[in-house]
Amino acid sequence: MDKIISVLGSTGSIGTQTLDVARANNIKISALVAHKNTKLLEQQVREFSPQIAVLTDEDCAKDLKIKLADTNVKVLCGEEGLLEAACAQNCDTVVNALVGISGLKPTMAAINAHKDLALANKETLVAGGSLVMKAARENKVKIYPVDSEHSAVFQCIQGCHKGAVKRIILTASGGPFFGKTKEELKCATLEQAMRHPNWSMGAKITIDSATMMNKGFEIIEAAWLFDIDIDKIDVVVHRESIVHSMVELKDNSIIAQLGSADMRLPIQYALSYPERNEAVAKPLDLLSYGKLTFLPPDNDAFPAMKICRKAFEYGGIAPCAVNGANEAAVGAFLSGKIGFSDITKAAGEVLENIKEIESQVFCGTASHNVNLDTVLRADKISRRFAYSYLKIM
Ligand code: NDP
Ligand code: MG
Repeated sequence: MDKIISVLGSTGSIGTQTLDVARANNIKISALVAHKNTKLLEQQVREFSPQIAVLTDEDCAKDLKIKLADTNVKVLCGEEGLLEAACAQNCDTVVNALVGISGLKPTMAAINAHKDLALANKETLVAGGSLVMKAARENKVKIYPVDSEHSAVFQCIQGCHKGAVKRIILTASGGPFFGKTKEELKCATLEQAMRHPNWSMGAKITIDSATMMNKGFEIIEAAWLFDIDIDKIDVVVHRESIVHSMVELKDNSIIAQLGSADMRLPIQYALSYPERNEAVAKPLDLLSYGKLTFLPPDNDAFPAMKICRKAFEYGGIAPCAVNGANEAAVGAFLSGKIGFSDITKAAGEVLENIKEIESQVFCGTASHNVNLDTVLRADKISRRFAYSYLKIM
């Protein structure tokens, strides 16, 4: 494939699968970025020979520089290095596979440098959707979805006029706790929460899937990517994770995209679009499933989707605040400091107190201008609010 990409988050679940796709499709690599994983990044650099390699952790970057002294790769560190990789001169598409709000600045930098994006980092759109979409329009940059549901919708709408789309139906696996009551969820352990039934993913999104916050974020992600009213985005629980999402058209035809639960398919489509290339992902054996099921989500036991809808409808920095609180709470849950149910509670509490958060972000002024600075400030303030609510120092 005649494409040169930079992979931000190359050592993670999406990052390593992107490199599988790159290997199979002969895609050249301009830059590779990770946080601390020196060993894997060194291997990746030796295999793919990028011009730039970045570890955002300074000490790890120093170590990598010594290890790669026999190569021509430029080793950089910190946020500066990350932003340079996002704008690398010879790259035409940036794959953003970072986790959390850390993906927002590099997304903006890549767009402003006129790079197309293959976007896995959904938190970018949750926290800064209005900024990102505006910058993409102004710079005539394309954003190709990597998230499986959004890739499915993107595949389903090929050849459809925008006006023909009546409804988007996102599918949700329901995660490891589907069918549990609110009471039962109070005792959910980290080990149980990490056991996703169908997908093997990084820790943060695995917990987001268990709380269903991931699906709430995906509703917001779909609203931005496909420029559709949020109340025209529905969710159905589909335990098999075979139908990756659907689009209902105005003649009531429903178009669905099916495939095995293998992220390399949506990653490859984001990079090959509009072409279809030979499969890297596993084929789907329909007969091994026999039947496909669709159930309503339980919004009582899993209130995260409602919180996300409410935050999006409120607008401004509210989705960013929910994202920040969630990120802080998921981190606390992963390190054993809070219980499972506290995660969604913290996100809901921040939204309940959004006026207070706004007054801190905008210093009590009437103007609530959403820009990169205010979004990043909202993120920090919401995290602080969540920590204080959760009584974490
Ligand atoms: P992982 O945790 O597996 O990987 C994260 C990657 O980002 C790693 O390379 C990590 O480096 C790097 N990283 C983390 N923090 C920083 C930082 N501050 N600066 C630079 N690099 C950093 O995550 P996933 O691959 O699971 O998820 C990536 C994104 O894709 C998320 O937004 C997720 O929601 C989304 N997504 C993931 C799916 C999946 O199947 N995994 C499916 C759909 C969406 P290091 O290894 O050195 O720590
Ligand atoms: Mg998804």
